Amino acid sequence: MISIELPDGSRREFDAPVTVAQVAASIGSGLAKAALAGRVTQDGQPRVVDTSFVIDRDMPLAIVTDKDADGLEVIRHSTAHLLAYAVKELFPDAQVTIGPVIENGFFYDFSYKRPFTPEDLAAIEAKMAELARKDEKVERRVLPRDEAVAYFKGIGEHYKAEIIAGIPSNEDVSLYREGAFEDLCRGPHVPSTGRLKHFKLMKVAGAYWRGDHRNEMLQRIYGTAWATKDELQQHLHMLEEAEKRDHRKLGRELDLFHIDEHAPGLVFWHPRGWTLWQNVEQYMRRVYRDNGYQEVKGPQILDKSLWEKTGHWDNYRDNMFTTESEKREYALKPMNCPGHVLIFSSAMRSYRDLPLRYGEFGQCHRNEPSGSMHGIMRVRGFTQDDGHIFCTEDHILDECVAYTTLLQKVYADFGFTEIIYKVATRPEHRVGSDALWDKAEFAVMEAMRRSGCEFIVSPGDGAFYGPKIEYTLKDALGRQWQCGTMQVDFNTAERLGGEYVTESSGRAHPVMLHRAIIGSFERFIGILIEQHAGALPAWLAPVQVDVLNITEAQADYAAEVVKSLQKQGLRVESDLRNEKINYKIRQHSMQKVPYILVVGDKEKANGTVAVRARGNRDLGVMPLADFSTLIAKDIAAKT
Ligand SMILES: [Zn+2]
Ligand SMILES: [Zn+2]
Repeated sequence: MISIELPDGSRREFDAPVTVAQVAASIGSGLAKAALAGRVTQDGQPRVVDTSFVIDRDMPLAIVTDKDADGLEVIRHSTAHLLAYAVKELFPDAQVTIGPVIENGFFYDFSYKRPFTPEDLAAIEAKMAELARKDEKVERRVLPRDEAVAYFKGIGEHYKAEIIAGIPSNEDVSLYREGAFEDLCRGPHVPSTGRLKHFKLMKVAGAYWRGDHRNEMLQRIYGTAWATKDELQQHLHMLEEAEKRDHRKLGRELDLFHIDEHAPGLVFWHPRGWTLWQNVEQYMRRVYRDNGYQEVKGPQILDKSLWEKTGHWDNYRDNMFTTESEKREYALKPMNCPGHVLIFSSAMRSYRDLPLRYGEFGQCHRNEPSGSMHGIMRVRGFTQDDGHIFCTEDHILDECVAYTTLLQKVYADFGFTEIIYKVATRPEHRVGSDALWDKAEFAVMEAMRRSGCEFIVSPGDGAFYGPKIEYTLKDALGRQWQCGTMQVDFNTAERLGGEYVTESSGRAHPVMLHRAIIGSFERFIGILIEQHAGALPAWLAPVQVDVLNITEAQADYAAEVVKSLQKQGLRVESDLRNEKINYKIRQHSMQKVPYILVVGDKEKANGTVAVRARGNRDLGVMPLADFSTLIAKDIAAKT
């Protein structure tokens, strides 16, 4: 008798071994049709299996459908196979390599004599749809490793043969066949190709075999796949929107910044972009000041011996830019933390000084591959709103609560209201006693509860030196960006010799809390640009007001208006060119300036301005003083 426990706690019993599909059928014909896979637990480990998987002993089972995240994963994975199948049908001399699932979809790398064209992609996608309509069964078989190597060599798939040859020789490998196409795979897969309906091929790019530039360049085809037509369409719509909002495109159009071959992965900020930066920085500076932080600034280049103490020299050297002078080696700092410990240690500290909070707009450099750069979102040189709180273990809870409240306010001010909270707990390899971890983990979770935050726990994902909270914001397109972080650290201060005098006149190492709210300025400004589609709220906009005259006769009045608003501290520009007013309005509207003021003879005679708010909203003619009040309110409200 085999007893299978279902997710609702009920049990089904069978006289003989049964497949997942048979269990689904015994529950109902609807479920039998919807079943994509099963989730079983064997030896305490959950794993997703094919519907043809045979259950031959007691175990828990959940039927996986397309409503299940595992189901979507199976769909995406199976669609990658369908892609390879279609490519082999259309280009028989292409060789298959690997095809993993990625965020929102999948890719598959092929060896082929030339790059695939957009026309090829369209043909491949059509072939995939045709093969899916045939609804061919996906069947699994198992071969000893050497037989599998021989099999793939025999059909001319040399990359597959190479992959399998890397598997230990005593292991069996599983192969999946659909129609004429068979691929090495661990599975699981959908039961038949007809289950794959909502997919689209996105693009093709070059990728080196095994990611090594000395190897052959392969053709990587990217695709997306979803459980329903609606979800696919929503995703495509989101991508379209994202393209319109792309910060690289807007950065060019709004003349904010550029990246230059002379400094790969580093940003040249143009006047308007730098004004935006300054607006963010000045805001964050007030955040430091009003919340008990002291702003500090450490040096950019620090001696190798410091990085040896932190462990960076041994473990992170390839990612650091190094230099030397007078026979000493230095590194450009990849992080600000050690600098803050040195400032902490520059004087005798007492328990009475704690918690001591330092904040820095710390510029860091990390030598990452130039290929992984993305506009200003992924760069080699970036500045963080990097703060460190030196405290005792008893302070952790209150500090985490205060920080979380602060972060929520900052994100809301920048227009982000949805935040995802994640607590990462002790990993297997760690420093510090269990009692210390217990206390710190309780503190970060209790801080979440006191702040009214629902949070996800990811067990084992903490750093070796302490637990952490990750704060991820959701943007206008539903994309997630992890920006904020709060990391408890029992180790760094001790490693670098930071200590304070305790109440009983002994010595102790402080706990260090590493925290950033917006994270990298470069990345955050990129997110801001995309969030607002370049139409930054008045408090952030590099230019807040444009003053346009209708004819030469009002040039002096326009200049007066500019001067008066500038006196109010506003960022104002004027366009006094002898051009048609509609042309000037159109041009400045495209720059997404919050307010355009038009002045003609009437406005000049009455001391008024005709106000157009962004988005072509005509607010009418008003005295200049009224406009001053209006924009001041707008700026204060940060909307
Ligand atoms: Zn597979
Ligand atoms: Zn730090």
